[in-house]
This record gives sequence, structure tokens and C-alpha cells, in this order.
Amino acid sequence: MSIRLFAPSFRIDECLAEIRECLEAGWTGLGFKTVEFETAWKAYAGYEHAHFLSSNTAGLHLAFRILKDRLGWVPGDEVITTPLTFVSTNHAILYEGLTPVFADVDEHLCLDPESVASRITPRTRAVIFVGLGGNTGQYEKIVALCEANGLALVLDAAHMSGTRLSGKLVGTEADVAVYSFQAVKNLPTADSGMICCADAGDDARARRLSWLGIDKDTFARTTAHGSYEWLYDVADVGYKYNGNSVMAAIALVQLRYLDADNAYRRSLVARYEAGLAPVSAVRIVPTAPGCESAQHLLQIRVAGRDELMLALQREGVFPGVHYRDNTEYAPYAYAAGTCPNAHAAAAEVLSLPLHLRLTESDIDRVCELLARYAR
Ligand SMILES: *Cc1c(COP(=O)(O)O)cnc(C)c1O
Repeated sequence: MSIRLFAPSFRIDECLAEIRECLEAGWTGLGFKTVEFETAWKAYAGYEHAHFLSSNTAGLHLAFRILKDRLGWVPGDEVITTPLTFVSTNHAILYEGLTPVFADVDEHLCLDPESVASRITPRTRAVIFVGLGGNTGQYEKIVALCEANGLALVLDAAHMSGTRLSGKLVGTEADVAVYSFQAVKNLPTADSGMICCADAGDDARARRLSWLGIDKDTFARTTAHGSYEWLYDVADVGYKYNGNSVMAAIALVQLRYLDADNAYRRSLVARYEAGLAPVSAVRIVPTAPGCESAQHLLQIRVAGRDELMLALQREGVFPGVHYRDNTEYAPYAYAAGTCPNAHAAAAEVLSLPLHLRLTESDIDRVCELLARYAR
């Protein structure tokens, strides 16, 4: 039996019961379950506003579009970001003609506040923080830095569904927080995401822009007027970014189990930590103090990462790499060499298999193989 990096789990009967409601109601699109899930997410995560989308990538794009319009940013204005992330984070900045300025990472592989401070210029408008693997890193210092410098804060919370800091779920500090419920994330659906805006006007704009600029969703119009109101206004040239009821149906079930699932992930991590303690060639990326990580990833750092990866694959164990230094990619090559810590980390990081189907003996096997092959 091979051991995969990720393998999502679904409570199939519960998911099917929720999806059945959509099919029986004849309502698989926007509205109905999407509204139900938004309500459940707000209650869980403590947001005043939340809007269900087709993906986190769509949400990050909307975040920059909305902040740019409201705050009067112009092309070439700068957003400080990390090179150690999935490219969605940085593409979203470019979608709006803004300029990604890369700051370096700390030992948690999250943005280092000192490096961020050193990259602030008169054109800096925002910081986007990525809680890599569910870790909060030095998020509180980034929040304070943004406040002190009048910068907007976007949180790419793709890995952070259920992450707590000092006992409280993180996210509400940001101007906009965006979650991913993509197939292998901690709250897996198939593809979907959530945008959570602090500002009520931003939330209204996100709703409009995510549905072609149309003012209200069909469900709200149906229930408000008792009939399908086919005349509507189009205020903006929006996008087709809305989530649908089938994804929301699955998400509703996943949310019921999120905290328990994350606790199971942390128990697997504790077993990894114990198993790897004697393996001096392996350094585990530390979780920040006070952070109860959603533990989307368990990242280690090793020398000779690529050979180790191949050796593990030969034994049927398939880890991953999160991520390549984004400044190695053509659209960001102008910033190559500006973030030495991130660059060094990118050559050493390995994400060990971590998902709900793993047993303790799977973890023990991975630890044994690391003890044998890591050097
Ligand atoms: C998965 C991921 C995204 C994109 O999420 P989608 O829902 O697939 O668009 C963005 N940022 C990070 C850090 C991710 O891991």
C-alpha cells in the first residue's frame, strides 16, 4: 500500500443527504445551500460577512479588485507578499495590475515582519499573509505593522480553516480573508472557497462582482418577491466566480467535522514529532507559539531533499513540496535573489503525508524510512 501526501475523506451518506436536498429542490446553483453554508461559516469562524465562491483564487482576485477600487489604488501600486506560496496568491495581485513586492520568510516559512517593514515604500498599499500549512507564524506582528503603516491586510487562509491563535480562530483581523475548500484542503469539497470581508460595502461588492455584476442572487430575489424577478440591474462588469449548492452541501457536512478532523491531524503530527525526534537530519518547521494549527501540512527541512524524495517514492511513500520559490517563475523573475531565506527553504522543504486516512503505523513507517534515508 502506498502512502499518499493527501487523501480527502468524506462522510458519504451525510454528503449525499445534503446533495439530495439540492436535487429534490431542483436547486443546485447559487443560493439555497450556499446561503446555508455562509450562515454556518459565519457562526463558526466569527465573521460578520462571508460569501461562498468557486475558489480561493477567485476570492483573492476579488479582494484586490475591491480594495483597489475602494481605496483608489492605481496600477503599479505595491503589495508585499511571500515567494513561498501557491501561485494563486501572487497571480491575484497581477490580475489587478498591482506589483508584487516579495519579502522574505522566517523559521515558520511565513512572512518575516522585519523583512516586510524593510520593503515598505511610498507606493505600498497592502500586505498579503499566507499562513503556510496552517501556521500563524508572526501574523500578529504583521497585523500591527499594517495598522501602524496604514496598509490593507489580505489573509490567504487557504491552509487555515480552523487555525486558532491564543484560542481564537484567526482571520477577522484582516480586511479580507479568503479560504479554499479545494479537493485536498482541510475542508475539502471539490472546488470552492469563501471570501470574508470586514467591511459591509466590500462584502456587497464581492457578491455583485462574483456574479457578473448582477445585484442580487436569484434565491434572494425569489424569496423576497415570491416570484422570479427577471429584471435586474448590472452595476459592474463582474465575473462568474460564484459558488454552487452542490459544493456548499458537501461543505456543510465537512464543517461539522472540521475541528475534530484538525485535532486528528495534530495527533498524527505529534506522532511524527516523537518518531522524528531522534532523526537529527530532519528538522520540523516549528509551529508558532500559541498557534493551534489546522495542520494542513507537516513540513520538514532536509539537506538532499530531491534524492530523499526519490528514495521515499521507491518505497511507496509520496511526499510533496510546498513550494518552489515563486521568483523562479517567469512572471516573478524580476524579484529573483531578493528573498534568500525563502530560496534556501524551497530547496529543503518536504511535506510529509498528512490526512485523515493515515494510521499511526503509517506514520511510523514514514519515520523509519526518514531515519534510513535522510542525511
Ligand atoms: C490551494 C491554494 C490556493 C488556491 O485555492 P483554490 O481554491 O484552489 O483556488 C491559494 N493559496 C494557497 C496557499 C493554496 O494552497
